Amino acid sequence: MTAKSTKPAYTRPEVSSEPENELASLIASTRELLLWEQSLGAQGFPESELAVPHARSAGGASPSEAVQDCQARLQVLADEAAACSRCELSKGRTKSVFARGTPDTDLVFVGEGPGYHEDQEGLPFVGRAGQLLDRMITAMGYPRDGVYICNVVKCRPPENRTPLPSEAAACAHFLVPQLELVQPKVIVALGRCAAENLQCVPPAGRWRGVWGEWRGVPVMPTYHPAFLLRSPQFKKPVWEDLQAVLGVLNRELPKRAR
Ligand code: URA
Repeated sequence: MTAKSTKPAYTRPEVSSEPENELASLIASTRELLLWEQSLGAQGFPESELAVPHARSAGGASPSEAVQDCQARLQVLADEAAACSRCELSKGRTKSVFARGTPDTDLVFVGEGPGYHEDQEGLPFVGRAGQLLDRMITAMGYPRDGVYICNVVKCRPPENRTPLPSEAAACAHFLVPQLELVQPKVIVALGRCAAENLQCVPPAGRWRGVWGEWRGVPVMPTYHPAFLLRSPQFKKPVWEDLQAVLGVLNRELPKRAR
């Protein structure tokens, strides 16, 4: 003889056709289902059904362990960059400029190289262009520090000139592992220099707003915020590029920005 449960069997409640009633009834039925499953000994949903883990925690580490490990590895690289003399740019630096924001993110912005303020503070995009970038980031619905921001080169080029190909190549020693550690779902290349160094400028034709790929990661090349400060008429296409980025990330625009 099999032992019979004294608990009543779960029965699916009626679902109303009115939206408010339907929501209330779905909440009630979910609650009832959970209580019923609990009465059968269930201990909640396995974590993998509640959250999609970041790819970096795929090795079995918990998300927080994986983020800490990633942060530690990035710090090793940042320390190496601070002492680097792989190219001539190192001779003129006040501080190396590695990154700001969080590596625990789906979105990375890559700029060209530090300017005066960045060189003084040791952080990327802290001048006027950085303030505009911050407004773009928050308009997308991220907290200012909810994305990861870095540059093609980590030391300020003289007179803010574009980094030479040899300087960018030397600094790829940092940029490549940096991006590989963060594992974003999308990279935004800010300006042609960043787009070129992520191999996302087609040999001919338009480059802005044309999706590219860097080691399997979708890259959206768009105009640099410093260019937008000089030519604000191009803010609209850049905003369209950022909306396309949100689409690929399956994120909605915050209501106020629609
Ligand atoms: N421009 C860049 O490309 N990077 C910075 O960090 C600042 C200005």
